[in-house]
Amino acid sequence: MAGWLMPLEEVPDPVFAQRMLGDGVAIDPTEGCLYAPCDGEVTVLQPTGHAITLRAGDGVELLMHIGIDTVQLAGAGFDPRVKVGDKVRAGDVLIRFDLDAIVCGAPSVTTPVLLIGQDGLALTGKHGGGIVAPGEPIFSIRREAVAVEAVAGPVSETAVREVVVPLAHGIHARPAARLREVLVPFAARVTITKGDQSADARSPVRLMTLGIKLGDTIRITAEGGRADEAAATLAALIETGMGEKADPANAPAPAPAAAPVAAPVSNEPGLLGGVTAAPGLAIGTACFFRLPELSIDPVGKGASLERARLEDGIAKVVRAIDADLSHAAGPMRSILTAHRTMLDDPDMLETARQAILDGASAGHAWRLALRPQADLLRASGDAHLAERADDMVDLERRVVSAIEGLEDAPLVFPPDTILLADDLLPSQVTGLDPAQVRGFATVRGGPTSHVAILAASLGIPALVAMGAPLRGIAEGETLILDAGAGTIRIAPDTAQRAEAQARVDARAAALAGAHAAAAAPAKLADGTRIEVFANLGSVGDAERAVAAGAEGSGLLRTEFLFLERETPPSVAEQTAEYQAIADALQGRPLIIRLLDIGGDKPAPYLPIATEENPALGLRGIRVGLAHPQVLEDQLRAILGVRPIGIAKIMLPMIASVGELRAVRAVLDRLRDELGIGEKVELGIMVETPAAAATADLLATEADFLSIGTNDLTQYTLAMDRGNPAVASGIDGLHPAVLRLIADTCRGAAARGRWVGVCGGLASDPLAVPILVGLGVTELSATVSVVPEVKALLATLTLEHARAHAAAALNCATAADVRRLAREFTA
Ligand code: PEP
Ligand code: MG
Repeated sequence: MAGWLMPLEEVPDPVFAQRMLGDGVAIDPTEGCLYAPCDGEVTVLQPTGHAITLRAGDGVELLMHIGIDTVQLAGAGFDPRVKVGDKVRAGDVLIRFDLDAIVCGAPSVTTPVLLIGQDGLALTGKHGGGIVAPGEPIFSIRREAVAVEAVAGPVSETAVREVVVPLAHGIHARPAARLREVLVPFAARVTITKGDQSADARSPVRLMTLGIKLGDTIRITAEGGRADEAAATLAALIETGMGEKADPANAPAPAPAAAPVAAPVSNEPGLLGGVTAAPGLAIGTACFFRLPELSIDPVGKGASLERARLEDGIAKVVRAIDADLSHAAGPMRSILTAHRTMLDDPDMLETARQAILDGASAGHAWRLALRPQADLLRASGDAHLAERADDMVDLERRVVSAIEGLEDAPLVFPPDTILLADDLLPSQVTGLDPAQVRGFATVRGGPTSHVAILAASLGIPALVAMGAPLRGIAEGETLILDAGAGTIRIAPDTAQRAEAQARVDARAAALAGAHAAAAAPAKLADGTRIEVFANLGSVGDAERAVAAGAEGSGLLRTEFLFLERETPPSVAEQTAEYQAIADALQGRPLIIRLLDIGGDKPAPYLPIATEENPALGLRGIRVGLAHPQVLEDQLRAILGVRPIGIAKIMLPMIASVGELRAVRAVLDRLRDELGIGEKVELGIMVETPAAAATADLLATEADFLSIGTNDLTQYTLAMDRGNPAVASGIDGLHPAVLRLIADTCRGAAARGRWVGVCGGLASDPLAVPILVGLGVTELSATVSVVPEVKALLATLTLEHARAHAAAALNCATAADVRRLAREFTA
């Protein structure tokens, strides 16, 4: 690469500087391109594209690692031009990279170029330093005669370690992927053995199929360069528990039975029992869904053609997943990320490539690579692993469809369908239209499967693990699926049907009434005005919000507007987007939140270094303050929206008045510069307990306060909002959160400022009366619930809401608050 050459000792990372990985030099690049330094074969390419190993002749292996700690950029800014197994010539482009992005996102862009893993080789003739150009020799490699004699003995070193697995859930996908990561610097071949089965430690999928559980003894065997170190590194990592160490006070949980999870047996004729995957009640007609096997020609038409088809197919699915990932959040995001990782699995790719060499077509080769893995997962005897088999089948189908140009057509069902299936795949569930499919039930599956999580997030009532009796239901039969109760009633009698219908109708009628009245301004029954706004992420949202009766927007999540960008949006681009949204709101106020990047919200154009505690690190306004140009550009863009003042500015993740002052100083300077005399309101989000506790101080300098209850809940309860392990405990109706909301309202009222809520509680009918009673006067809800929230407000009086809120503050638990709230709204 072109750049400044420096000795390895100057690399700001002891692993390189102290030659722990090997001898070499480092280059501070001046251009974003890494070329092959010699002829060779690509043996390792980090999935994130920041490091590559090349094997030249005579045992020479070279590692090039672009930048320091760049693994944390998760591939952002790196564009590898080769693949593992490619033969390259000196001077071929290996990786292109975005130098600016790496400079911004990583501690250093210095690139070590190292000779790794071979005894008897030494560097000579190192370049003296200074500017180097591609093609210029930077060192030579010589085989040392003495050293060769000294190593006369076994050519390959072997190391074996035994480890008792301390991870509570064994080696599942995440730890397996992490094991692969730590092996990147090593050339040694490493296998992990449990009982009589072994797997390549670099293949997360194969490792998962070993079904390694808590307390299992496994053997790590490393062969080849620095085998001892590779085995020791892996053993040490596993022994730490990788952040998932089982609590020794608790006996290891007995392994759950293999799927299907036993369904509760119902003795009542016509009533089948299942396991709740997503609650709700639906009446509809049974429709069986059987996925036809995609028919493909198993025989290939030549290895190079089939290999290209395989790679194209995988690339198509990767692009589709990446596109979904760009706007996915919560459980959907983690599921897509898991699918993305599985597609990178080197072992599966290798198996498929080998099958192609043996004459298989691309689709058949991919099937041969995945299907045995899915079968092994099903046979693992572990319910959680068995559920992951669905993911493998899903990926098999998606890639085969992409290779064959048979991308699955959207699934269409008659209205009021209750879908019955042996199993559903995650991508099929995301494709269901809740307007057609009222609910679904599966023979297999488990309550923690991705399918269950997706059903809940789509609001489709679902039951799983119904067992074989589900197959006995006749097509077209009338069913009542009561997912909350875990039952399906087959061919209900008139009374049963009428009772269920009454429950479904009551809910539908309430919704229809709310929609009809949605255009009127929101008021309580006593005439108290409460504004009902909508949260937006796009122009389309703004149009839907107006149609749903929203009176403005209390939160535009600006990070959603430019998610797929590799470079930060310009001022003009931002102004255009904000203006389009303001125009769609037709004169209604628009509160634009400054970029809230970091934590669970990544943005490719503003990479943030890996942090041990991302939720407590560089996120929200801290990112803007750390990148002043990004902050200034966004403020300038908002000041460009007309009429001036229609767009208000809101700061995310405020923890102290100093942050607000810093932004106000920039805003005032820009207004002066642009000659804007009109007031442009600057408000803050209350998302940290610190902001709630100092609401009076903040309200002295902020024009308004809006409570982000999603983050306020996470930080108050110290529970990660994205962690399924604590998901059941994260409830914004926890009395601790309610008390902080009360403090915020009190502090703001003392300074004459209004308080809104733009977090999830504003969309929760049980929370709305409490929020109003605590003094909140603006609710910014999800677009779809705006009519319901308005209708609910119309049934309340301030006096009743205040008494109800006071009682809620005195409840002991979130469950008590919910019970009280249900009684209040009943
Ligand atoms: C919140 O935290 O409640 C909020 C509205 O912000 P976000 O969900 O975008 O973090
Ligand atoms: Mg937030």
